[in-house]
Formats: sequence, structure tokens, C-alpha cells
Amino acid sequence: MATYEEYIQQNEDRDGIRFTWNVWPSSRIEASRLVVPLSCLYQPIKERPDLPPIQYDPVLCTRNNCRAILNPLCQVDYRAKLWVCNFCFQRNPFPPQYSAISEQHQPAELMPMFSTIEYTITRAQCLPPIYLYVVDTCMDEEELGALKGFLANVT
Ligand SMILES: [Zn+2]
Repeated sequence: MATYEEYIQQNEDRDGIRFTWNVWPSSRIEASRLVVPLSCLYQPIKERPDLPPIQYDPVLCTRNNCRAILNPLCQVDYRAKLWVCNFCFQRNPFPPQYSAISEQHQPAELMPMFSTIEYTITRAQCLPPIYLYVVDTCMDEEELGALKGFLANVT
């Protein structure tokens, strides 16, 4: 049996994601009281050969200023065919193509094993990827110079 620290490391290795907190705040008040903001470091284009790409568009939260994507951390009411966004707590109906959804018949995006999903978007206009590099400059000049040179060559 793995320790909690080993479990977190295993998830980081698998998904390429590291969170500042490993639990989600249960309310906006609780989120506002976090000393360190909830955030994550994400390794883009992380290979997940164990999971196939999803060949349909993601289900988005209906709140216009949210647009979060349905994920395994959302609460789901299978009888009412609703899901609750875990970012803004908006109650969202499932789209018609999810009418057969049940606890035994779940889409990939609700399965815990799909902790990351690669969608192949069919309808939306695909824009080229945008990369944002955040560089911690607390290092010696030589190391920072080498990092600047590396980043200048990969961009
Ligand atoms: Zn939302």
C-alpha cells in the first residue's frame, strides 16, 4: 500500500499535473481563505498511451463566464440528467446525446481513470496552441542565461 505522498507522486507522474493543494475547496469562502492560491503546473502534450483520444467535443458548463469541462470531480445526478460544475457550482443539463447516461453507463469524462483527456474536436475552429512559460528567476546569472538561451531556441 502506497503512502499518500507516493499516491500524489504517482498521479503527477501519470498526468503531468502538480497542484498546490490536493483537495478542492468546498466553497468560495473556503477557496478565498487559502493562503496559497489553488493552482496547478501542467505538462502539456503529456503522453497517455493507456487512454484513447476522445472523438467528440467536451461538455461545457453553461455559465458564460465559466465554461469549465465536465470531469470526474463533478457531482452528477443521473436521474435528473444533471451535473454540477465543480468550479462555479452551476447545475448543467447533459446534452441530448447523453440521455442514456447512468451510474453503470458513464461517458469517459466521468471515469476516474480518465484523469486527463485528449479531445479530438470536430466542430470548433482549431487555433494553434499557445504556450506560456513562467520562469522563476531566483537563480544565478549563468544558469538564468542558459535557461534564456534554451527558451529562445524552443520558441
Ligand atoms: Zn462552471
